[in-house]
Amino acid sequence: MSAEEDDSGGLCLCQQDSYLRKLVTTVVSCTKLEPPPAPPKQEGKRGGKPAGAADAAASASAGSSPQQYELLLAESPLFPESGGQPCDQGVLRVLTDPSDGDGAAGAVVNVTAVAWKDGLLAHITDAPLEPGTRVEVAVDWDRRYDHMQQHTGQHVFSAAADALLGADTASWELHPLDAAAHAGGDYGCVTVDLAVAALTAEQVLELEARANEELRAARRVEPLVLDPRSPADLERMEALRADPTFRGKLPPPDKIKGGRLRLVHVEGLDINACGGTHVRCTGEVQLLKVVGVERTRGQTRVRMMTGGRALAALGGCLTREAGLTAKLTVPPSRQEESVDMLLRDRRDGSKARKLLAAELAALLGRQLALALPPQPAQTPQPPAAAAAAEAPATAAPQWAALHRPAADLDFLSLMASAALEASPGLQLLLLTTDNTEPGALPAPAPKPGVEDSVEVAFLVSGHPDLVKAAGAKVAEALGGRGGGRPGRYQGKATGIFRLPAARAAFEGAVATAGLT
Ligand SMILES: [Zn+2]
Repeated sequence: MSAEEDDSGGLCLCQQDSYLRKLVTTVVSCTKLEPPPAPPKQEGKRGGKPAGAADAAASASAGSSPQQYELLLAESPLFPESGGQPCDQGVLRVLTDPSDGDGAAGAVVNVTAVAWKDGLLAHITDAPLEPGTRVEVAVDWDRRYDHMQQHTGQHVFSAAADALLGADTASWELHPLDAAAHAGGDYGCVTVDLAVAALTAEQVLELEARANEELRAARRVEPLVLDPRSPADLERMEALRADPTFRGKLPPPDKIKGGRLRLVHVEGLDINACGGTHVRCTGEVQLLKVVGVERTRGQTRVRMMTGGRALAALGGCLTREAGLTAKLTVPPSRQEESVDMLLRDRRDGSKARKLLAAELAALLGRQLALALPPQPAQTPQPPAAAAAAEAPATAAPQWAALHRPAADLDFLSLMASAALEASPGLQLLLLTTDNTEPGALPAPAPKPGVEDSVEVAFLVSGHPDLVKAAGAKVAEALGGRGGGRPGRYQGKATGIFRLPAARAAFEGAVATAGLT
């Protein structure tokens, strides 16, 4: 991140001392934020920018978020979102005795985001404070220190990539930890886009090893603030530019806003223009672990985590591994093999269940057809039913209706085919089912007018003309939708209480068709 990006033209306190966690200061102004327009729906946070002041303000309008305020303070130790590093968060504790910086703390106001605004730090808060109020500003140190570890780790990794492969860092981004994602096993990452088309697995391991070697070397990390208007600083800038560990670009002296340029020097390893916060020594980063590599637009994106974040991730992995060891009763080295076996069993089981279900559906279909009570043959056939008139005179019923719980439309379709095949005189068939699980408590008995949330599926099958008319009536009675092909009309609806109405509608269609 270039110091040019600092709109203030100067440096905020955290850029001068990243270990400053608290200070006492005064509220300069407080503005109630207008709810911004609703933001477009986004997919997760992983691919997006770090959450910043603008995002925080936007999210306030998205739902039931509380009102937000924008506070300016005389001084602040908080870091604003900038150059790939997310902003700080923290709290403002109101001091009850304004004359005493150590006075007892009163109300606490949360700072949810910080951003540069017109050369000043704008603090987004969840409550207003009167201008002139004395407050103690406290940085959310866990969040900040995590960012300092990740950010310094990025410098070290980028330097290793340059030293080993001559690969420049085209861009990088630090994703803040998200508590919900963390609980789900997603620990967030730093991404570094290297200007190389690809990396081999060996190169990735070599880079990771080199970066960890540099962390163990416990190199000093310090910010350098230079003023090119000073001949001495200008001379030092030129000397740094010639240093073999210097990376990136320096703006021309006359283009440096505010007249001061901030560099970060990792002793013996890296000099870079950067406005972010860093730890004092590479040893504080503790460790660096590459967790993913992917190609992106001709470059290679490396995902990594360092420090406490990496240790937390390792802790999560070990906990999950212990859980799997207990459940699978095999040691970690054989767990993949064990899961492969379980997945194979599940696939085989699923296939077997499908075959059995098909066999059962066919049997039930035939049973339905054969179980229909014989009816006296009627002569002549009712003229209203063309289909019935064409059908041969038979003693077997020409229609049937059945509810089969805990099945699906595929099952009903197989049943219908088997029933129609077993009983050629069958002209119209209504099969219904519900989404209860086999073996579970059955769906409640239909009680007309008493609503329930049971999902019902239906299938009307038989002579195409009769099916078309009866299917639409059944769908309407169920309050659902349906469709299909000639001879098959199927659909879904909610509410098993509508089944009697559907059955009545079907029987009405049967009567209209003059079926026996
Ligand atoms: Zn940096």
